[in-house]
Amino acid sequence: MLTCKEQVARSSDFLDGQLSFRERLLVRHHLMFCPNCRRFIRQMRLVQATLRALPEAPVPELDELAQRLAAAQRDSRSEKP
Ligand SMILES: [Zn+2]
Repeated sequence: MLTCKEQVARSSDFLDGQLSFRERLLVRHHLMFCPNCRRFIRQMRLVQATLRALPEAPVPELDELAQRLAAAQRDSRSEKP
């Protein structure tokens, strides 16, 4: 069984799907028995997902779109009695 240190060293490759079949089994095996590393992997996965979800640059169109939607909503509301 891997030590926690060996497990952590493989974590990012594991999440990226870069490990060989055998290594992946070792990691999964360790995770089955080690809640600490499970938590660690979960956090890493969360961080990766968050980073991936972030836009690479600010999106000015989004602000504009939000303003236009708000304006449209105001307009449609004022048309009704
Ligand atoms: Zn561990």
